[in-house]
Amino acid sequence: MDTTNLTISGVAKKLASGELTAVALTEHYLAKAKGDNLNAYLEVFTDALVQAKLIDERRAKGEKLSPLAGVPLAIKNNILIKGKIASCASKILANYTASYDAAVISKLKEAGAILLGRTNMDEFAMGGSTENSAFGAVKNPKDLTRVAGGSSGGSVAVVAADLALGALGSDTGGSIRQPAAFCGVVGLKPTYGLVSRSGLVAMASSLDQIGPITKTVADAKLLFEVIKGVDLLDSTTRADELRPVSTRKKIGVPRSFVSEGLDPEMAATFAEAEKIFKNLGYEVVDVELPSIKYALACYYIIMPAEASTNLARFDGVRYGHHAEGKNLLEEYEVSRAEGFGPEVRRRIMLGTYVLSAGYYDAYYAKAGAVREMIKADYAKVFKEVDAILTPTTPGPAFKIGEKASDPLTMYLEDIFTVPINLAGVPAISIPAGKTKAGLPLGIQLTGAPMGENTLFEIAGEFEAKTS
Ligand code: GLN
Repeated sequence: MDTTNLTISGVAKKLASGELTAVALTEHYLAKAKGDNLNAYLEVFTDALVQAKLIDERRAKGEKLSPLAGVPLAIKNNILIKGKIASCASKILANYTASYDAAVISKLKEAGAILLGRTNMDEFAMGGSTENSAFGAVKNPKDLTRVAGGSSGGSVAVVAADLALGALGSDTGGSIRQPAAFCGVVGLKPTYGLVSRSGLVAMASSLDQIGPITKTVADAKLLFEVIKGVDLLDSTTRADELRPVSTRKKIGVPRSFVSEGLDPEMAATFAEAEKIFKNLGYEVVDVELPSIKYALACYYIIMPAEASTNLARFDGVRYGHHAEGKNLLEEYEVSRAEGFGPEVRRRIMLGTYVLSAGYYDAYYAKAGAVREMIKADYAKVFKEVDAILTPTTPGPAFKIGEKASDPLTMYLEDIFTVPINLAGVPAISIPAGKTKAGLPLGIQLTGAPMGENTLFEIAGEFEAKTS
């Protein structure tokens, strides 16, 4: 069976018609996943076959099933699956078994999706290359010497290499979109509050959002529709209806923001993408997001502040790695020092510093005020346009090790993705071309809050034109 060109929507039809069984499909993907040479899976779930058998039985009885029934999916390892390890690719949780299902997992199970395995990531989702995993970097399927991006590097790599039909990732500052761009697949960061964070191990709670990673825009929509929804266990989920597709046929480009620091091949691909949208009948206009230049600085205050608070629960006492000490304080210190990797420790220290007495107003409160300005910039622009177009990343996937020793250049990779999380708006990364060396490049479409349908529409048109 060759599934490389199969999509979730395509497979759903074959499963419904009986051309394919969930068991045959799952066996096929289990075999592929076991052959993973990318270090993308942390574990492949052999009990996936049991789930698949049940789906086939239900179908044989004539039950009407969801399009996801029998579809093998991979899950980032910061999303809890009852009875499975949720390590967040950290030594501190290396043997931690989840005691309940995340809200999105309950929804997937209800829809009959087959959970194929848990995927590698940057430790606690902190990073943009998956090199911060305690279990080694994920390789880019298009060039094994390069990173797959991060932090959802494993989830993206398995989709790009067809080791699963789709995956879930989490995105706090770009962790779905940046790897999606690096590996040539589709990744959606939904509007903040549309997808429940219950059972997602928190990084920065006001920025985190779970989203789909797929081969096509239609598949992203399908998966998104299954995982979204109000949840009493996440008080930030919202009941608002999605907006109808916006039909002004107008796309905004924050010109000054996208004119600096781009890799020349990315710049050329971006110019080409603008042309394609014009040919599709869109008016492409320059827009201003004046505060966006502060987004990265703002993010690297808010994110570590929230992360340091969230990670305080890993104390070596209640669960996770435990080390003995002479007294309780030393037990905390040793457990945490042994359990956390260097990037996580860096962010805990940064966050603790910006929240400390005397610095709170100067850093955290100020970053909060800047965040409101960024939100207001987006709100203003969305009065005029359907979507905002930028590259997803400044350039293609970099070499493994290339930026590992320089956190600042690594943080600059997030320049186009971070503002979206601060504003809480949705954005989708879609493949837009390749470098001469064959490395994928992605463009990002950002929408108004609850504007996912507009993004699917516009991204879908672009995809149809380019693939
Ligand atoms: N690369 C960004 C960071 O290191 C984004 C991480 C994420 O979205 N989880 O914080």
